[in-house]
Amino acid sequence: MTDGEMAIGVDIGGTKVFGVMVDGAGEIVSAAKLTTPRSFRTGDPQVLLETVLEVVDVLSARVPVQPAPPVGIGVPGLVDRAGRLRFSPHLPEAEGLEFGNLLLRTLANRSVVVENDANCAARAELEFGSLQGVADGLMVTLGTGIGGALISGGRLLTGASGFAGEVGHMVVDPSGPPCPCGGRGCWERYASGGGLGRLAREAAAAGRLTAVVEDVGGDPENVHGEDVTNAARSGDSEALAVLAELGWWLALGLANLTAVLDPRRCVVGGGLAEAGALLLDPARKAFDELVEGGRARPGMELVAAGLGERAGAVGAALVARDGRQ
Ligand SMILES: [Zn+2]
Repeated sequence: MTDGEMAIGVDIGGTKVFGVMVDGAGEIVSAAKLTTPRSFRTGDPQVLLETVLEVVDVLSARVPVQPAPPVGIGVPGLVDRAGRLRFSPHLPEAEGLEFGNLLLRTLANRSVVVENDANCAARAELEFGSLQGVADGLMVTLGTGIGGALISGGRLLTGASGFAGEVGHMVVDPSGPPCPCGGRGCWERYASGGGLGRLAREAAAAGRLTAVVEDVGGDPENVHGEDVTNAARSGDSEALAVLAELGWWLALGLANLTAVLDPRRCVVGGGLAEAGALLLDPARKAFDELVEGGRARPGMELVAAGLGERAGAVGAALVARDGRQ
C-alpha cells in the first residue's frame, strides 16, 4: 500500500497516550490508546517515550504504508520550535525532554514534529470540525487544566517563541487557589475539569449537592466533577447550579479573551465539553453579561468541538503532514 498522504498523530495526556493514523482526507484509519505509564509519573521520562513509540509501532504494523508516514506529537505545555518541552504544569516530569530529537533517533526514516496539544486540537477543528471557515476564533480544551489556541486573520497565533495561547494561566483571582504552574488563581483552577471537582467539593462542604454527596458515601471530599455532570444530566437542580457556576467562570475567561481577540466563534473541547448545553447554556448567558459592550457586539458563538477528544491526535497528524504554522 502506498499513500504519501497518510500521517500519524499522538496526543500525550496525563492519563492516556492516544494515537491515530489518518488518511489524506483526515479520516481515522486506525487508532490506538495506551495508559500513560505510572513509572513515568515517578520520574522516568524514557518510559513515556517508549509508550509513544509503542503506539506508533502498533499503528504502523496495522496499516503498513510506504513511505513511512510522518509522526506528530501533541504535548501539554510550552513546546519550543525545536520540539523541546520547556514547561508543563501537568507533565512536570517530562519538562526539558527533547521529544523531537529523541523520537527522531528511533524513527530515523520519518519526519517528527512536536506541537502544543491545544494547537493540535485547533488544527483539526479548523480543517474538519467546528472552526471550519472561521478566520477569527479560539479554542479552549477543558481537561485537567485548560489548553488554548488562538486564531486571528485565518492563522494560528504562535507568538515569538511558539508559546502563545496558554490561556489557562491567565489569573482571574490573585488570591485564589494555588496552581501547578506556581501561580495563584489561574483561570484553569476554576473553569477546567479539575476546577469543576474543586467547585463541587466546595459546594458539598457548604451543605449543597446533597444527593451527590449521599451517592458517594457521605464525604464531601469524595465528590468528583463527573459525579456532578452525571447528576446534572438527571436534572438534579443543585448539580445544575454548580455547572452554572462553572459556566460563569468559563465565560469570565472568554470575556477577557474577547477583549483582546474579538473572536467570532469559540470552540470548547476536552473531556468537559461532553457536558454540552448543561455547561454552554449558562456560559453563554454569563458571557453576554460579562463581555465589554455586550449589546454593541454582533455576538460570539460558543460551541462544542466537532471532533471531541480525538481532535488532539488528529491535529497532531495534520501538523506532521503539513508542518507547524
Ligand atoms: Zn497556572
